[in-house]
Amino acid sequence: MLAESILTEEQKAIKEAAREFAENEFPKFAEECDREERFPFELWKKAAELGFIGMSIPEEYGGQGLGVLDSCLVVEEFWRVDGGLAMILATTFGSEQILMFGNEEQKKKYLPPLAKGKAICCACYTEPQAGSDVAGIKAKAEKVGDEYVINGTKIFITNGTIADYYVVLARTDPNPAKRHHGMSVFLVEKETPGLQAKKLKNKLGIRASDTAEVVFKNVRVPKENLIGVEGQGFYQTMIFFNVTRIPVAFQAVGIATGAFELAFNYAKNREVFEQKLIDFQVTQEKLALMRTELEAAKLLAYQAAYFQDKTGMPDPGLTAMAKYYCGKVAQQIVNEALQIYGGYGFMGDQAISRMYRDVRILEIYEGTREIEVEIVARSLLGKIPSRLSYVRKHPFG
Ligand SMILES: Cc1cc2nc3c(=O)[nH]c(=O)nc-3n(C[C@H](O)[C@H](O)[C@H](O)COP(=O)(O)OP(=O)(O)OC[C@H]3O[C@@H](n4cnc5c(N)ncnc54)[C@H](O)[C@@H]3O)c2cc1C
Repeated sequence: MLAESILTEEQKAIKEAAREFAENEFPKFAEECDREERFPFELWKKAAELGFIGMSIPEEYGGQGLGVLDSCLVVEEFWRVDGGLAMILATTFGSEQILMFGNEEQKKKYLPPLAKGKAICCACYTEPQAGSDVAGIKAKAEKVGDEYVINGTKIFITNGTIADYYVVLARTDPNPAKRHHGMSVFLVEKETPGLQAKKLKNKLGIRASDTAEVVFKNVRVPKENLIGVEGQGFYQTMIFFNVTRIPVAFQAVGIATGAFELAFNYAKNREVFEQKLIDFQVTQEKLALMRTELEAAKLLAYQAAYFQDKTGMPDPGLTAMAKYYCGKVAQQIVNEALQIYGGYGFMGDQAISRMYRDVRILEIYEGTREIEVEIVARSLLGKIPSRLSYVRKHPFG
């Protein structure tokens, strides 16, 4: 297919290796980690040994320096088998702030342990009153001598109870001229006094992934732990999301591919009315439409990753379009796949039922579906720099 045809031999080999790992290793953990809401440390370690963790981190900081598309192929293959377990790849979530905005010392200290599977990172932006509205955060970091004192509550933080490093967005200016001004990003290490994390249980999906409320109570960090520029935290974070939304589009392509394949095989084997389910025209049409949408979504995801690799920067409009469309298509495909399973999809702990629960997060985290649409619209209007803009001189460039 076209999307895969742009892959180099090396990229095909990465994809193949990731598929083999997920198919061989994930079934040992999938049901239990989902039921027990347990993060699979053993699986994460093994994946790190094989080089699947932190692949995009440059070689000088312990990673492999692979491109965005390279690492997203692993995301796709892992999510094809199980979304909850595939969240072992999110153990470096937050490291993008260090890589893009951190100084040399910070990169040398924090990136190698993350790339080698020896430490886990988390990114703390969301607060109870401020999810989509990042500028509404209340957490504050007050400069006292050579330190910053952080106070605030963050919610829904992936890896919150298992992280070694907490990348935190907080207000450094209590009276900014604009509400998205005066924010800064900090790195807080796990053992810092005043940091408390509480696991949030009973999630609908991706239950193998750790999610927590993280409270900062007079948490003191040295001024050296400021990441990037004081006051630029909001802008840094928007750029961060432009980067991390591309893998979410691949999460969607992966889970949709997995669900499609399961449903296709099920329909070939299931007998109804003394015929194979797949022999019915209505089933064939369903599968044909699922596959059509999947291929269209895949092209958009690959395009977003390709452009970031080519230009060194993600295109916000294209990225938002990919995350929105792939997320929407994944919901539809997983829903139809479960329909093909009938009651057997609704009952029990099988993969298709988990996918039905796991897929829901893709239209919520890292920018809800509505927020992605807004970014696409703002890009069209030239309010955000994007190749989608109709205000540019060469709109189809
Ligand atoms: C499992 C999980 C893991 C997560 N991991 C992390 C993490 O690691 N770090 C982190 O910081 N956060 C994390 N989040 C938080 C996640 O990013 C937010 O839940 C998300 O941004 C939405 O924010 P909210 O839940 O406050 O919803 P709200 O912002 O309250 O939105 C509620 C509804 O209103 C809509 N809405 C909001 N604003 C507008 C608007 N302007 N126009 C139209 N509609 C609008 C939304 O689209 C949504 O449908 C995670 C969440 C979950 C569930």
